[in-house]
Amino acid sequence: MAERTGCVVVGGGPAGMMAGLVLARAGVEVTVLEKHGDFLRDFRGDTVHPTTLELLDELGLFEEFAAIPHAKIRRLVARTEGGQRIAVADLTRLKVRYPYITLAPQWDFLTILAAAGEREPMFRLLRNAEFTDLVRDGSRVAGVRYRGPDGDHELRADLTIAADGRWSRVRERAGLAVTAFRVPFDLWWFRLDTSGAVEESVLPTSADGRLFVVIPRAGYVQMGCLIPKGADAALRAAGIEPLRRAAAKAIPVAAEAASRLAWGDVKLLDVRLDRLSRWHLDGLLCIGDAAHAMSPVGGVGVNLAVQDGVAAAAMLARPLLDGTLTERDLAAVQRRRASAAVFTQRLQRVLHRALGRVVTRGEGLEPPRSLVRLLDRLPALGAIPARLLAVGRRPEHAPDFARR
Ligand SMILES: Cc1cc2nc3c(=O)[nH]c(=O)nc-3n(C[C@H](O)[C@H](O)[C@H](O)COP(=O)(O)OP(=O)(O)OC[C@H]3O[C@@H](n4cnc5c(N)ncnc54)[C@H](O)[C@@H]3O)c2cc1C
Repeated sequence: MAERTGCVVVGGGPAGMMAGLVLARAGVEVTVLEKHGDFLRDFRGDTVHPTTLELLDELGLFEEFAAIPHAKIRRLVARTEGGQRIAVADLTRLKVRYPYITLAPQWDFLTILAAAGEREPMFRLLRNAEFTDLVRDGSRVAGVRYRGPDGDHELRADLTIAADGRWSRVRERAGLAVTAFRVPFDLWWFRLDTSGAVEESVLPTSADGRLFVVIPRAGYVQMGCLIPKGADAALRAAGIEPLRRAAAKAIPVAAEAASRLAWGDVKLLDVRLDRLSRWHLDGLLCIGDAAHAMSPVGGVGVNLAVQDGVAAAAMLARPLLDGTLTERDLAAVQRRRASAAVFTQRLQRVLHRALGRVVTRGEGLEPPRSLVRLLDRLPALGAIPARLLAVGRRPEHAPDFARR
């Protein structure tokens, strides 16, 4: 027997949870399918930006969010090979309600969205529910098939939203064409126990010619080390000692754990940057990384995914409730959100080229002196990268019906 719902959202990440919550607040019957049993994946980004904080406020969820342990980052600081700290972006110069980026475990952020959703009568989150295929009525997408703990199901819906991330199975099954951009590096992803506090940073830390992304968590630090694309096997063959030394130098309070690091603890993450030229088919819309996979550079993907989720729900709630939804409505969502994705990806590609050179040469981060002097002399310049990274293009607001 096929089940039925108004909208099925595939993927309980930032894009899917936000879309599901806002649609449910409009009174649309929503089912979110999440293939994992919990949100505890350690390779989710942890940054929550000023625009998302404002959205949480509008949704009446800011206090809950503020109660979870988090760090506030007001200046984006890069640490160079020589140990110098360079403030590249200054969020305190922004005219926004929350002039800082928070670093909070994404599983806590998603738990708040899930709990808010579950307070809505029209919302249902199915965990351990993995999308397997699309259901079609002729050329129209009419829902999904998924595998749950109790077997295979068919769920029919007026709209299917693909929010299943950068490896989106939905977009693959839909046959939507993807344009992929070259990314010059991959990430080694590992955690190290710490014996003291670690300074929070969104920008890389350079040590022994390597660049590290550093995410402090309670009792340990989550680290990403940028390596040239495709170099994983050769670097592993050369031995782990250089990585241990560089990680210990980057985070001295993790030196003891770094000395015990083994290759089995180091996961290779394939960094991708791509986008769909068309985000929709009749009955199907892709959002978040499923429409435009973001790299970790700048820590902007979560924010963009959240904004896509809000915009899609705000624009599609009415036609879904009235039963008038057409592909034109889906195209309007893409028109509204694509420019923000394209703009941010362009920015990431510029940063990729610069970082790619640093990673390939293996000399570490040492920005030109002229740039450092300029930032020193004209601190107001720090507002420009702050705006680009922390606010971005076309921030979205909660529609009236979703405000609490
Ligand atoms: C290593 C790394 C670090 C990053 N760090 C940051 C950062 O610090 N800040 C930042 O803003 N961005 C960061 N990004 C980018 C960011 O993670 C993404 O842009 C963002 O998570 C996109 O959100 P999403 O909801 O579209 O997709 P996702 O967060 O990928 O969520 C997709 C969800 O769909 C579920 N799913 C997948 N397949 C299925 C299926 N078949 N059936 C059901 N469910 C399924 C997944 O389990 C997941 O919960 C990072 C990216 C990488 C690779």
